[in-house]
Amino acid sequence: MKGKSAAVSFIDQLECPRTELLFQESKPLYNEDQAVSEASRCLFCYDAPCMQACPTHINVPLFIRQIMTKNVKGSAKTILSSNIMGLSCAHICPVEVLCEGACVMNHEGKEAIHIGRLQRYSVQWAYDKQMQFFTKGKSTGKKVAVIGSGPAGLSCAAELVQLGHDVVVYESREIPGGLDSAAVAPYKLFSEDALKEISFIQKIGVEIKTGVSIGKDLSISELEQKHDLIFIGIGLGRDSDLGIPGEDLSGCAGAVEWIETIKRTNAFDPGTVRNAVVIGGGNTALDAARELKKLMVPKVTLIYRRTESEMSGYKHEKDRAAQEGIEFLFQTIPLEILGHNGKVDGMKLVKIKSENGKLTPVSGSEFSVSCDFVVKAAGQEKLSELFSEVKNLTVKNGLIQVNPETLQTGSPKYFAAGDCVSGGEEVVYAVADGKKAAKAMHELLMKEK
Ligand SMILES: Cc1cc2nc3c(=O)[nH]c(=O)nc-3n(C[C@H](O)[C@H](O)[C@H](O)COP(=O)(O)OP(=O)(O)OC[C@H]3O[C@@H](n4cnc5c(N)ncnc54)[C@H](O)[C@@H]3O)c2cc1C
Ligand code: SF4
Repeated sequence: MKGKSAAVSFIDQLECPRTELLFQESKPLYNEDQAVSEASRCLFCYDAPCMQACPTHINVPLFIRQIMTKNVKGSAKTILSSNIMGLSCAHICPVEVLCEGACVMNHEGKEAIHIGRLQRYSVQWAYDKQMQFFTKGKSTGKKVAVIGSGPAGLSCAAELVQLGHDVVVYESREIPGGLDSAAVAPYKLFSEDALKEISFIQKIGVEIKTGVSIGKDLSISELEQKHDLIFIGIGLGRDSDLGIPGEDLSGCAGAVEWIETIKRTNAFDPGTVRNAVVIGGGNTALDAARELKKLMVPKVTLIYRRTESEMSGYKHEKDRAAQEGIEFLFQTIPLEILGHNGKVDGMKLVKIKSENGKLTPVSGSEFSVSCDFVVKAAGQEKLSELFSEVKNLTVKNGLIQVNPETLQTGSPKYFAAGDCVSGGEEVVYAVADGKKAAKAMHELLMKEK
């Protein structure tokens, strides 16, 4: 079987140079004075709403107090004990609608405590000093396979290893981390920082085999024979097509595919694009549009079929996109991507109206715009058909069905969490559910023992 060994440092495998290095961090790292000063603003609330708002329930007032008293090591341990991907989450969580959104300061007419930036200060300090807080538990002799090295798989694996189980994570990509390392906007998190966190998880004792696609390189039945339990954390698949002519033209890409290109390679030359169009109304569309603008593409237009208030992307992200000069075209859909010499050269569109919740094209409203690059952010396909041969494992609308208490599927040997169950949420939810599944898997393994 192919696959790279667990001891590999994945950071060394990153291509250099790569386009993501052209980005500047939107929230740079605090120095000690800044961190202590920000921590000193916290009211250390009893029953803190910030802690309740965090899906992984990090003890926020405790870790902030530890930073304030310069016990940074203690604060990092507090964070990572609840959330093993505390570094990624510090960089990329939508804190505006989670912990910081719940901070009592908002009701006092003051700025919320910058919890995300304090969390990053703490965990990065610990990683820079090569600190290791957790170790493998006493061996139980039980073996678990984790399919997918995204946040759900890694969180589940890290928890199981600490409980004494042998865990192998199988990952089809060459570099682990799932969308956390491959698709998150580079101005929020660079691949290298995501991979630093993975090194820390490897050092606890999690084995990661990359370049192994379950279902191709290793069959489901082989996996079953080798392991006592299996965790499915495969996320979602490739970008969905729009189903219109011209999608195969050069200069038309799916959002996740394109973002992965800029994060991992130097193949995209921003200097060749003057006028880009992004199709979609979610956070991925907003990210792609902002990335193009930050790469100095002069004109970036986001086209969405519904109204502005119906966009699923966060309002704070949309406001930032508008401030950065991104133009919006609402209630409009593309009919065709136009081409010249095999390359994108404009787009034919039509206006849309909503009648009783149904979207219909407005007759005679067709028009064309010029553009030389198109990014499709109309969602991702589902991968769960891979498990169609597993008895009693139910897949509904492409999503794996689980018991919400245990995250066990209908087939007792399989548990699942993350985007392949939810249909697409944030990293912090995948981390929380990966850990929750690990606890239920541990109980089952110990019962069987
Ligand atoms: C463009 C984009 C930007 C985002 N930005 C943010 C953000 O800023 N903040 C945030 O919190 N969330 C963000 N998200 C959402 C977040 O990335 C996901 O919710 C999270 O990564 C889901 O984790 P997961 O482990 O379920 O799946 P994934 O991260 O998708 O990981 C699944 C892994 O399984 C692997 N895999 C699939 N099939 C197989 C197989 N057969 N064999 C072996 N391996 C397999 C895949 O290669 C992948 O590495 C973003 C998502 C996208 C698309
Ligand atoms: S709600 Fe705000 S002030 Fe209160 S503990 Fe949390 S971060 Fe501190």
